[in-house]
Amino acid sequence: MSAPRDTRATITADLLAWIRQNEHRAPDWFLDDGSAAPEPAAAMAPGSAVTTASTAARATAPSPAAPATAPDPAFAAACAAFVAETMALIEREGVPPGGTLPEDPLLAAHGGDKAAALTTLCAEVLPCAKCDLHRARTHTVFGVGNPDADLVFIGEAPGQDEDLQGEPFVGRSGQLLTKILGAIGYAREDVYICNILKCRPPNNRDPLPAEVAQCEPHLRRQLAILRPRAICCLGRIAGQTLLGTDASLGRLRQAVHFYAGIPVMVTFHPAALLRNPGWKRDTWDDVRRLRALVDAMAAR
Ligand code: URA
Repeated sequence: MSAPRDTRATITADLLAWIRQNEHRAPDWFLDDGSAAPEPAAAMAPGSAVTTASTAARATAPSPAAPATAPDPAFAAACAAFVAETMALIEREGVPPGGTLPEDPLLAAHGGDKAAALTTLCAEVLPCAKCDLHRARTHTVFGVGNPDADLVFIGEAPGQDEDLQGEPFVGRSGQLLTKILGAIGYAREDVYICNILKCRPPNNRDPLPAEVAQCEPHLRRQLAILRPRAICCLGRIAGQTLLGTDASLGRLRQAVHFYAGIPVMVTFHPAALLRNPGWKRDTWDDVRRLRALVDAMAAR
């Protein structure tokens, strides 16, 4: 299923044009420069992952001090190289669009209607009492967004606002996520947003392995209905949990990973960006790479 050489060259040229057009659009709030440096990155992540010299350099070095809106041809070229390498890997591995998860039986039961299948799955998940988190919850937070989305964002677990409203990412970090999406040309309604855990852990503590074990099948079924082109994990916990690794966020950010054949990128959690605005610059790079990859996948 490898694309002919000229097709790949055309995609790369289109991508470069897209990146150049869009690199000026980053709003000031996104790129405001805090003093904190990102978590230092170590060596290349293991497994089927794509690391380019450019992504490694960006993950290890402090963000450039150049004005945020200045054109960045080096980034544009590195981004195009990253996408080309990732697409080549996807073609080499023969990964089908939507990944290798078997379609959830609910999809067939609803004649392929993803929205209807998700509604049925949601009704099954809402009363879940498989772990103790159900005892203190106000709402189970299933997920929201476009059932036909190319891109699924996965956070860690609902916080207080999400627990109260029954929707993921609606508090302060959710508002920042909405702005991040806007910066790469997406409305919340264009993508699908959910979490590893569907119920709020007390005092927002990290998910326990037993909670993840009980809740992950819900996420797996969601993904087996959504069958997105790509996944973006928000933060270390989401990335580590989905990918079954204890690699640092710095390492996870350096590479594209795969979950059941679906490309996965990992970036900072919006809550971390609220605490450390200096990490937004690197997040801007991450999400531009993500958008470019999704566009390339849609074009194949
Ligand atoms: N943080 C998360 O990881 N998920 C949410 O839904 C809200 C905050």
